[in-house]
Amino acid sequence: MIAPGDPGFREAAVGRVFNARKPSRTPAGVVFPETEAEVVDAVRLARTRGRQVSIRSGGHSWAAWSVRDGALLIDLGGMRELTFDADTGIATASPAVKGGVELTPFLAEHGRMFPGGHCETVGLGGFLLQGGQGWNSRRWGWGCENVVGIDVVTADGELVHANEAQHADLFWAARGSGPGFFGVVTRFHLRTHPAEPMFHDTRVFALDDLEPLLHWLHDVLPQLGVAVEPVVAATRVGRPETVLLLHTTFTGDQDPLLDTVPCRALEHFHGPTTIAEENVAMTLQNPEGYRYAADSQWTDADAATLYPLLRDLYAELPTEHSFSIWYGWAPARRLPDMAFSLERNVYLATYAIWSDAAADERHRDWVHGHHARLAEVGDGVYLGDSDFSRRPDAFMAEPNRARLEEIRARRDPDGLFVSYEMGR
Ligand SMILES: Cc1cc2nc3c(=O)[nH]c(=O)nc-3n(C[C@H](O)[C@H](O)[C@H](O)COP(=O)(O)OP(=O)(O)OC[C@H]3O[C@@H](n4cnc5c(N)ncnc54)[C@H](O)[C@@H]3O)c2cc1C
Repeated sequence: MIAPGDPGFREAAVGRVFNARKPSRTPAGVVFPETEAEVVDAVRLARTRGRQVSIRSGGHSWAAWSVRDGALLIDLGGMRELTFDADTGIATASPAVKGGVELTPFLAEHGRMFPGGHCETVGLGGFLLQGGQGWNSRRWGWGCENVVGIDVVTADGELVHANEAQHADLFWAARGSGPGFFGVVTRFHLRTHPAEPMFHDTRVFALDDLEPLLHWLHDVLPQLGVAVEPVVAATRVGRPETVLLLHTTFTGDQDPLLDTVPCRALEHFHGPTTIAEENVAMTLQNPEGYRYAADSQWTDADAATLYPLLRDLYAELPTEHSFSIWYGWAPARRLPDMAFSLERNVYLATYAIWSDAAADERHRDWVHGHHARLAEVGDGVYLGDSDFSRRPDAFMAEPNRARLEEIRARRDPDGLFVSYEMGR
């Protein structure tokens, strides 16, 4: 264990946090297990010493959920298993495996795909536990819907396998509780899909076209195929005072409905693509080494309600890299019974991205201020793009949240694992 005062402690505590705005919180110590037996030892050590446990897989949580005052931080970065069973189509992956950089090329060798995160370096652990909004997720479902089992070290320090049939309560909780999960997942068992051809289309519009664009999108969204991911992105990378209409499809071609857009595109790029190529663009939009603040909102509000709020937000992007998205989610089916339970017609998310530490509070105020206004016309947030140290909000349906806390009370009665309260 690396403890406060030991050489390299600060690096061990926050070095693998993606966000360059590192938290000032101080863990009681950091351990880097390389085997499941070492994870068991770490959980038992925390219990013996009267410490809580926090966990890190890929380190991509914007709010650095893994770094908690006084907790023993179990950093799973050293565990790197990836397997694939051609007979069942099931892959297994360690939680620190990166969805894009590692899982995607590994599955491509087998002609398979998985709905991993849109940014290639996101770790599977946090991504899958919180839901997992991945490639082709409108059709293949949330990442967590494609988890068929987990290996998990419980608060008792036991390694168990959980799925629909055994330890089903843990399995239910693991699919959506995110940073509130009460166990250490050491392995995910994943349903993979046959590889599909992918198509990309980007149209650039003047920001002044946002109003007709949004009205049209809200009108066509119910008819768009579920293999289409339609996104409006406001970004200053590229032409100023513009918005992009991006869509990827997993049908090998574009959806003809997209050609009915009523505004004139200033530029239009389209053609076949791959997850690897799309990841390159996403990495440019989410550069490493910058300070980030993120917030989100689910909403069923109509275009007329959203337009003035989004126009203000899009016109004010504070830095070159900052961006904001309108994502046409339009759920086409009921979610299975699991902790993850909050989604709406449209997903909104905003990311302030900057490098000057002196501007931290200004940019945080900007993101969370805009999203507080969006929250007045929305119904909660997605854990993946949330920071409860600034703006707590609902992230599960009420009955699911109640059930989660009831399972926690049985599985982790002493509160060994940290939960959603994290301080600043
Ligand atoms: C550049 C970038 C792009 C992103 N793009 C997407 C996207 O396209 N779709 C999307 O859904 N999200 C996206 N996110 C959000 C991201 O998925 C979440 O922040 C997620 O938590 C990251 O997982 P991680 O393992 O890397 O994070 P970590 O910070 O390591 O983990 C976050 C928390 O999850 C819990 N946790 C992680 N691993 C385990 C485990 N093995 N056992 C128990 N608990 C665990 C812990 O509470 C931990 O503190 C993006 C984030 C970034 C930085």
